[in-house]
Amino acid sequence: GSKIGRVTFIYYLSTTVAAALLAVIVCLVIIVPAVKEFDPAEVADLTASVVSDGASKVSAYGAFKKSCGQDSEVWCKIRMTLDHIVPSNIVDAMATSQLLGVMSFGIVVGLYVDVKEGYKSPIVALCDEILKVMIKMIYALIAFTPFAVWSRLCWIVMKYDMSKLAGYIGWLLVAGFTSQFLQAFVVYPTIYVVCTRKNPLIYMKNIFPAMTAAFATASSAATFPWTLQCAVDRNNVPTKIATFVLPLGVTINMDGTCMTLIVSVFWLAYAQGLTLDFGKIMLMVITAAISSIGTAAIPSASLMYTGLIAEVADVPLGNLFGVIVAVDWLRDRVRTVVNVMGDSIGAGILAHHFPLKDDDEKPAVADLESKSDGI
Ligand code: ASP
Repeated sequence: GSKIGRVTFIYYLSTTVAAALLAVIVCLVIIVPAVKEFDPAEVADLTASVVSDGASKVSAYGAFKKSCGQDSEVWCKIRMTLDHIVPSNIVDAMATSQLLGVMSFGIVVGLYVDVKEGYKSPIVALCDEILKVMIKMIYALIAFTPFAVWSRLCWIVMKYDMSKLAGYIGWLLVAGFTSQFLQAFVVYPTIYVVCTRKNPLIYMKNIFPAMTAAFATASSAATFPWTLQCAVDRNNVPTKIATFVLPLGVTINMDGTCMTLIVSVFWLAYAQGLTLDFGKIMLMVITAAISSIGTAAIPSASLMYTGLIAEVADVPLGNLFGVIVAVDWLRDRVRTVVNVMGDSIGAGILAHHFPLKDDDEKPAVADLESKSDGI
């Protein structure tokens, strides 16, 4: 699969760079002319929870910087990503969602597992069994999602006093959602049509369950069962392609995250009366792309990296960062939808160019789905 691997990687990298440039254009059109410097006295009036949550994220970023030692932060981020490829403790890597490490460990185990004709290794049988049980458990948990999302949103709205925040968040949300919308409904369908000459609307309609799951969970990792199911069962992507392209995408392909990081720093800069020149913007694009590759596929994982992008652009985080933290529950859901769409469209394009047949007798996802129907 070295050719598939190369093409997948190039696809993921180019969509991330396209996403970053699109976010910059949207910011130049919306944030630069519209966002005026906030009055510091007014900013000081932000509610206590906004200020303290912002400060705790800033200190998390400080701890990350400190652990870098002498390195520059961009290099530190690259090094951390490379470090995660070889986990020092596989159980810890599994528990803390370091999917790159888990995948590389899986590859090494796969190399050494006995795959003689007609013999099924107990490790493979055990993994199959664990997968089935875990998927059943996830489906059972998912039954509670509407209630869980609803109660979580109530808690956030009460905690942050949205009436006070409303004055700050307008352009931040408008610029963020506009860029995500363009990426999801203009850039992806265009790439899909150009690469496959097929109707993107049908493909996108079929991934709708994965999109809603992404919105509900704000985690590409938790959405993975749906992403795989939509690709294999609804869009007829061969299991062989889907089970390679999608887990890799969940780990390294986060276009929505990359865009969010750029929009946040643009907004922070102009809300504090600063400007960004061409050099700083290019540095932001590179840093945001690298950060998105290293972001874990769990809720609000990328929030902390706003500090990294702000730093390369010379923008202090300040109290206004608390506003970004306070509305991240909503922005996170939208960017996770875009992250999942990027992976799914990638699987469709790769399946078109590498029409591998599944010789496997077990239709993995359909099998799991029929079990989940019982639940
Ligand atoms: N929640 C995002 C995801 O799981 C990651 C992030 O941007 O925080 O895809």
